[in-house]
Amino acid sequence: MGKELNNEGFVKKMFKKYYAEWEGEPPKDFNRREFAFVISRKGEMIRHKAFEEWGEVREFLRKNSPLHVYYSSAYYAQPSASDMDAKEWMGADLIFDIDVDHIYTPCKERHDRWTCLDCNTSGRGMPPEACPKCSSKRVEVKTWFCEGCLEVAKEETTKLVEDFLIQDFNFSPREISIVFSGRRGFHVHVESDVVKELDQRARREIVDYVRGTGLVVQNGKRRVLAPPLNAGGWPGRLAKGVYELLNAGDIEGLLNLRRGSKVEEVLKAIVKGLEESRDYWPLEGLARKIWFKAVEKVIVRKRCEVDERVTTDIKRLIRMPGTLHGGTGLIAAKVHLKDLESFDPYVHAVAFVKGEIKVKVLNMPEITFLNQTWGPYNDEVVELPIGLAVYLICSENAIVVGEGDENA
Ligand SMILES: [Zn+2]
Ligand SMILES: [Zn+2]
Repeated sequence: MGKELNNEGFVKKMFKKYYAEWEGEPPKDFNRREFAFVISRKGEMIRHKAFEEWGEVREFLRKNSPLHVYYSSAYYAQPSASDMDAKEWMGADLIFDIDVDHIYTPCKERHDRWTCLDCNTSGRGMPPEACPKCSSKRVEVKTWFCEGCLEVAKEETTKLVEDFLIQDFNFSPREISIVFSGRRGFHVHVESDVVKELDQRARREIVDYVRGTGLVVQNGKRRVLAPPLNAGGWPGRLAKGVYELLNAGDIEGLLNLRRGSKVEEVLKAIVKGLEESRDYWPLEGLARKIWFKAVEKVIVRKRCEVDERVTTDIKRLIRMPGTLHGGTGLIAAKVHLKDLESFDPYVHAVAFVKGEIKVKVLNMPEITFLNQTWGPYNDEVVELPIGLAVYLICSENAIVVGEGDENA
């Protein structure tokens, strides 16, 4: 038996175990949605499935224990039609994807590696769009999701949900679900009649708003009005951000300003203006210059790094909450907003918590899994908790060497 078959057989067995007792909740109007599955590693995606009864979905999962389970963010009159136009689009949820793959985190220099498949050039950190040596786009990446990455993903998700969706857009927390993506981020689903029929252009505007795109700082000589601290939306967000920034210690470093009595005076005036002002008030000269410098910084801090392709796609397939991610064996678990801060995927999204198994780990940095620290490992046979072994095998960082007692 080849090693690969062994690995795949092991993963299949574990997934089967998971889906045997799976009791996931149906998404809203599930019978209007398209479902899609990837059953095996080399198999193609099975699309255009639709189900009338939720029990049929459970039965399908039990029978096939797929590696990946998706459903459409869209609702269709004919969800099982294989022609996209024949499906008759009726609307779609508003979906956001916050994925550390697309967000810079400094820790990637430590734990991520990329290799050009054509010339073998390799490097650490975020992969380049094309190989810097031969321009090939066939760049392979080996990535990990560490505590630093998790913190960034949580911060972005909290900003999105609290500052934008609830505060600015006035969605009720009941219309918003946060779901661990199963790998390196979170999906945010908004199920609301208000968003259902929004077209791509409208969704793009939402993305631009959330990402702070187009809040361009103008360089003309015109007078600029500073918003009051309690203004709604971006104006208030900018005012508060500038206020926090100017009250922080390191103005010289942050704004690249040489401190002098004149600058000092203007800084004080801006802070005082923000504290006292109940309305938009004018900024001129040096005050205007400082304001712009500060605003540029504030936008970067307060905007939210969502993947625009996901939100603007009105026929997107999205991983179904509660199912397993075939690339990690972790659960795409729903997370309540109040639990997001303490959410740890290597505890709360672990599907297999009992038993150990021996595996050959090809490569793994130090990982804290189920509250215990493991590794780093390099080409060695070790006995690991079964959930961590599944994670490493699914992500192609380990191979099965023997069947342990996973029922222990
Ligand atoms: Zn290359
Ligand atoms: Zn990291």
